[in-house]
Amino acid sequence: MQRTDDEWIDLIYTILTAVKFPNEVEIDPDLAEKPNFKKLWRFLEDLRELSYALSRGDLQKFAYSKGFILSNLKALQANLRHLTWQTKQVADGDFSQRVEFLGEFSDSFNEMAAKLEKSTETLMQLANLDFLTQLPNRRTAIRSLEQIHALFKRHGRPYCVTMFDIDHFKSVNDTHGHDAGDRVLQSMGATMRGLFRETDVFARFGGEEFIAVLPETDIRGAITLAEKVRGALASTAIELPNGTILYKTVSIGIAEASPSDSDFSKIIVRSDRALYEAKESGRNKICVSESPELVRIVKNSANTPQENLSAAAAARGNEVIESNV
Ligand code: GH3
Ligand code: MG
Ligand code: MG
Repeated sequence: MQRTDDEWIDLIYTILTAVKFPNEVEIDPDLAEKPNFKKLWRFLEDLRELSYALSRGDLQKFAYSKGFILSNLKALQANLRHLTWQTKQVADGDFSQRVEFLGEFSDSFNEMAAKLEKSTETLMQLANLDFLTQLPNRRTAIRSLEQIHALFKRHGRPYCVTMFDIDHFKSVNDTHGHDAGDRVLQSMGATMRGLFRETDVFARFGGEEFIAVLPETDIRGAITLAEKVRGALASTAIELPNGTILYKTVSIGIAEASPSDSDFSKIIVRSDRALYEAKESGRNKICVSESPELVRIVKNSANTPQENLSAAAAARGNEVIESNV
């Protein structure tokens, strides 16, 4: 059957705009057999099926035909596949994912990922940091300790735990108020933090107690570091909001991990016991747990708070200076 130009245009228009395809379009049998028509038909089928699959979110459909129209749909399909992968990454906690290829949608996706990134960071900080001192909190310290203890068990790498407890801290609150006590905690925490290595874990353990977990450090290294901290604190002036200058000291208990420690809590118990001895033996002292039964007092070489007080008083003229030790 011969078709006029108008009839051809009408047929192609019908095929392209048919609501259902291809049932509602009647094709003459002799036309259906023509190779060029078959090519056109194949293209229209690909176009129909790929666009239908995309509209349903099916991203697996493969289209054989080529050309500008189909390649745009194929690009959309590839982008959506990549986006699906990126969304899975976000679901697995990688909030650094950003989409660059989907215009307005990219903007919304990126905004969502950035907000998730920010709020997760805030939540992590709230969960892991101590609000007052901004140091890692007890939970973080325990988690690190568990990991370091596991490495010790597996590879025998030495490590130490050092406990610090501020001496006569209660009297700061009693004499100057709770805000002044908070200021002292912040100041002493900051002084101590500056003395540790990147790989050490230094945290507020609770109240006026701090903990340091020192990987790759034996007892001698831990004592050297503890003495540095003790001396630095004893000679660091803390200025309260009302202008009062305080010098506060810490007592320190140290324990080294031992192969007989079934878990990390054993080393905490021993460092606590050493700390108790440091308090009992006069405060501003370092004690070392040498075994579960034996605690040794390390001789302090440096300044006492009284010596610091006289030196600071001399340097500062008539300022109010006090020590509670
Ligand atoms: P010692 O030398 O024996 O350690 O005496 P101490 O006074 O330091 O110890 P004690 O356990 O008697 O008192 C600790 C005080 O620390 C009591 C508690 O109210 C105070 N404290 C704990 N956490 C905070 C805090 O976040 N802010 C303030 N201001 N005080 C705190
Ligand atoms: Mg205490
Ligand atoms: Mg105390």
